[in-house]
Amino acid sequence: MSTVPSIVPEFVESFPSPLQPGVLYVSVPYSTAAHLCCCGCGNEVVTPLSRSQWVLTLDGRVSLRPSIGNWALPCRSHYIIERGQVQWARTFTESQIRTNREDDRRLLAQQRTEPQPTRRSGFAAAIVQALHRIWPPKWRR
Ligand SMILES: [Zn+2]
Repeated sequence: MSTVPSIVPEFVESFPSPLQPGVLYVSVPYSTAAHLCCCGCGNEVVTPLSRSQWVLTLDGRVSLRPSIGNWALPCRSHYIIERGQVQWARTFTESQIRTNREDDRRLLAQQRTEPQPTRRSGFAAAIVQALHRIWPPKWRR
């Protein structure tokens, strides 16, 4: 299987089985969306839709925010669905995920020394913003 470059919405009552690649199934009654992982691994990714989880925007094409980080899947893919296009985001390493969970300070220290991606994903930017609030970097003091 190959990566999925774009995705189209399809409104359903309940999700079909199997799901088709390149389709974001949206169930309004269940306020949930589902799609096959865009890396092509074939795993189903379910995204509950709510203000505190994922927010779906439809303007002819579909966007889903924040980014989708499939840390629990073997592929660990991380991407953003933006206006129907799949934009690949930085993949965190296992140690970065662990660090993020266990020790926010260590994650921030790593990001200081690592080259910064030119464009941060919404997910990574949100983490950095949250870290800056609880632990302001030295250069801001
Ligand atoms: Zn995958």
